[in-house]
Amino acid sequence: MRSDARAPNAIEPPGVRQRHDAGYIIRLMRPGERDVLLVVDVQADFCAGGALAVPRGDEVVPLVNRLARAFVHVVLTQDWHTPGHVSFASSHPGRKPFETIELAYGAQVLWPDHCVQGTPGAALHPALAIPRAELIIRKGYRREVDSYSAFCEADRRTATGLAGYLRERGLARVFLAGLATDFCVAWSALDARARGFEATVVEDACRGIDTGGSLAQAWAEMAAAGVGRIAAAALVA
Ligand SMILES: [Zn+2]
Repeated sequence: MRSDARAPNAIEPPGVRQRHDAGYIIRLMRPGERDVLLVVDVQADFCAGGALAVPRGDEVVPLVNRLARAFVHVVLTQDWHTPGHVSFASSHPGRKPFETIELAYGAQVLWPDHCVQGTPGAALHPALAIPRAELIIRKGYRREVDSYSAFCEADRRTATGLAGYLRERGLARVFLAGLATDFCVAWSALDARARGFEATVVEDACRGIDTGGSLAQAWAEMAAAGVGRIAAAALVA
């Protein structure tokens, strides 16, 4: 971590260039061998017409495709629930989507049924075009445990294996894009930091759900944890 108090989230990667863009100086970063783009949950159910559509979620797809071409390494995540999953409001009689309940592992927001294994809604968005992706990590596949994070399930104990994968491959800096900013992206970024990785959210390549102030809270928690925040223009010319 850098100690510069004025810019706690700044990154000083190798190969920094600068470019003037509409009066601003944008530092261009060239992702390298230690960098990975983590594309979070860009799935049909989280986009327009899906069971849990994130507002304007579709908009990220072309930008995520461009971003992916700038990275040597890309990993995708896929929300992948059983039927009757504990995170579904329909699994709790009398409950409605977006209510919060207490489960053995803590608070759980209840969602519409979404991303059920093998259904069209669980598929990656059809316009997502990242043939170079090296790994698709599925999460939330245990009926009794949700997993917003790509690293650790909601019981905060069960690892998905992603940290070990990144470490074995020497990938140290995680750049995040996808859906939704205030849930799966934020939890993944926070868990990346907690496991010793650098983490930076590409803000305009994400969209949030923002229920009950969740978006502002997520950004505050990420800033406090040293998660960087950049625009895609810093990575793609
Ligand atoms: Zn889910």
